[in-house]
Amino acid sequence: MKKQQGKPTIEEHQNQYNWDAFDIRYYRDLDFDDIQDSILAYTKKRTISLEEATSTPYFSKAYIHTDGKLLRLDQIGTRGVPSQVYIEYSSNLPVKALEYYLGINPHGKRITLGGELSREWDYKYDENGRLIEMTEHTYPDLAFTYRYTNHLYLHRFYEYDQDGLLRTYQLVEGLSISGKPWQKNKVIIYDREKAKILSNNTVSKVALISKNQLGKNTNLFRFGGLPPREVFIPVCPKCNENPAYIGLVDLSKPLQKKRISLNHIPIFFCLKCMENQTISMRQAQHQILDGNIKVFPETDFSFVNSSDEETNETAFVKLGGFPNWIQNEEYPKCNECSNPMIFVCQIESNEHLYNGQDALMFGDLGKLYVFACCNSVTTIMQCY
Ligand SMILES: [Zn+2]
Ligand SMILES: [Zn+2]
Repeated sequence: MKKQQGKPTIEEHQNQYNWDAFDIRYYRDLDFDDIQDSILAYTKKRTISLEEATSTPYFSKAYIHTDGKLLRLDQIGTRGVPSQVYIEYSSNLPVKALEYYLGINPHGKRITLGGELSREWDYKYDENGRLIEMTEHTYPDLAFTYRYTNHLYLHRFYEYDQDGLLRTYQLVEGLSISGKPWQKNKVIIYDREKAKILSNNTVSKVALISKNQLGKNTNLFRFGGLPPREVFIPVCPKCNENPAYIGLVDLSKPLQKKRISLNHIPIFFCLKCMENQTISMRQAQHQILDGNIKVFPETDFSFVNSSDEETNETAFVKLGGFPNWIQNEEYPKCNECSNPMIFVCQIESNEHLYNGQDALMFGDLGKLYVFACCNSVTTIMQCY
């Protein structure tokens, strides 16, 4: 094991106390990515017995000081990377957490020989004890460097007003494998005022996500098949052909129509040109479909409420909530009333869905975002 300059070794932490004399609690998983979840709020998490812990492939072992502070957390098991985290406090607030990976990650890739510092979190507070800055620093393994990054820093900045947390910014920077510095711009990851405005411009404040098994809320979204006869079939502005018909959203309960005049939102998108398009459905004329138009196999999905952002982001179809943008935010304005358009849904790429001509791929595993207002429907594609 090599000694990292100015950093304590795992042995120094291990020898600091007689850890076995501490109050030891077991948890199914105490995640360390989020300070609020792990250090400050661990007491609210459900504990499990030692028997229950050791019968699972992965669990957390917490060492609690007599004053109630969480001082050390061991992640044990095969599902994640086994590690030990040591937490330092100043005036009762956690100011630093140091994580030492101990072994192999689940994909069989070596993370560390064990014993070197792998990750470090630093926390800064304002005079009221509110978290204002968090830095997460991922160290390269000393015996072997990561494939893409050397050092990686994630900075988070928190802004408050009299009503509490107002905004959270994030900045990511690091060193590439060759030692060249790179930076990903500071982005807003939470904005209370904006969240308020957006919640008025979505068909559902709580996101509804598609499930494969049948359940409630079926027929809210029909994937594939032929568009209904009364629907205007647009042409792609770039190639002048009919774009692919993707599906139909039914704006009946529990979705809210808001300013949308249409009862159903037909979704068209040219999978060849990938052009964003706004279609006015005011022209209700019925066009005869080109005999060559290929359709996706018709499928109904059932939908459930979900507030879990990670699940929402990866769902095949997400109705309502806020869009999970892959790139920068692109909120369209309505051509008819000039208000922000209402977010209807986002659809995930799926290479296995094929209409005989194209697979349902929005660029490189991207997403299609659908907005509507008055008689207009706008589709926006973003990918990686
Ligand atoms: Zn086209
Ligand atoms: Zn409008």
